[in-house]
Amino acid sequence: MTSTTVFVSGANGFIAQHIVKQLLAKGYTVIGSVRSHEKGEQLKQLINNDQFSYEIVSSLTDKDAFVDVLKKHPEITIFLHAASPVSFSVEDIENDLLKPAIEGTTNALNAIKEYGPQIKKVVLTASAVNIFGFGPHFDADQVYSEDVWNPITYEESLANGFFGYLGSKKYAELAARDFVAKEKVNFDISFVNPPYVFGPQAYAVKDKANLNLSNEVVNSVVKLTKGDSIPAEGSVFVDVRDVARAHIVAFENDAAASQRLFTASSRYTLDTIANIINKKFPDTTVPKGDESRNEEIYKSIHKFDNAKTNKILGFEYITLEESVSDIVDQIYNV
Ligand code: NDP
Repeated sequence: MTSTTVFVSGANGFIAQHIVKQLLAKGYTVIGSVRSHEKGEQLKQLINNDQFSYEIVSSLTDKDAFVDVLKKHPEITIFLHAASPVSFSVEDIENDLLKPAIEGTTNALNAIKEYGPQIKKVVLTASAVNIFGFGPHFDADQVYSEDVWNPITYEESLANGFFGYLGSKKYAELAARDFVAKEKVNFDISFVNPPYVFGPQAYAVKDKANLNLSNEVVNSVVKLTKGDSIPAEGSVFVDVRDVARAHIVAFENDAAASQRLFTASSRYTLDTIANIINKKFPDTTVPKGDESRNEEIYKSIHKFDNAKTNKILGFEYITLEESVSDIVDQIYNV
């Protein structure tokens, strides 16, 4: 029996590596895309599994970006699009953030429509920033759910790198929705919309000094020493292993078709993260957090209700304590 073949774009990314790992553990064959031969070889070595292979897709904005992969691999029946720029500091917001995210999505969907008629399920790694409003659009009284859209306009997203990232994710999801509404397609599409994603790296950690952007939130606390003050900040988090699992539910469970999977575990503050580190690693130099100020900090963090998603997912989220412990364990001990 041949196994189902799943394609994962941006397979070397933090979240995508977990998706690949879980897919392989479930017996799927996986083809991942990376931007260069060097990155592909590194990833192949890390993953070390014959059911994994890679193809090079060097530019998401190339109209034919995914055409060759799909022509070469008619066995692909599931397409997960995770590749997108993840940065708040770029030189050119439109060319470095918005275009690769939006055009990358439509180029993938066009290629699937033209060259992958056998593809039945598509999953887009979207974001909770497509739901949450920030800056002038943050509403402390709103309970953010799957039905809400971040009101940021395309023009507003050109104002700075952070807004640019928000716009890149929102307008990529909208472009995908627009595409399936207008074109005659053979596939179901679903969306995974996580907030800040924390958790250990799926395989070996290359550079402990600089983790991927979202894990740097935890790493920034790890880097504090006694006497440093902890910034009064927080947000909403989910563990990377749950995000990867949600991508698999997104195509395995028909109830997820056309849905947003708003995978969110809980709110956090940096004080709570500092205290989890102190509890689990008593020799740490990280200062103790002051959780008496959590309620105050929570006033500027989104309230959310993702019951609809949780019903489709059917699993409990990994807690902040477990997620932070596993990251810090990897930083201190591996
Ligand atoms: P990573 O930075 O680890 O991975 C991003 C992946 O996208 C890498 O494979 C990267 O390739 C690829 N990529 C980035 N820019 C381009 C580009 N211009 N052209 C081609 N490929 C590109 O980030 P994450 O794993 O955290 O993010 C994966 C997805 O999850 C993204 O869509 C992101 O928006 C989304 N997401 C992430 C969250 C988080 O907190 N981490 C929260 C919500 C959504 P290369 O290695 O070559 O740069």
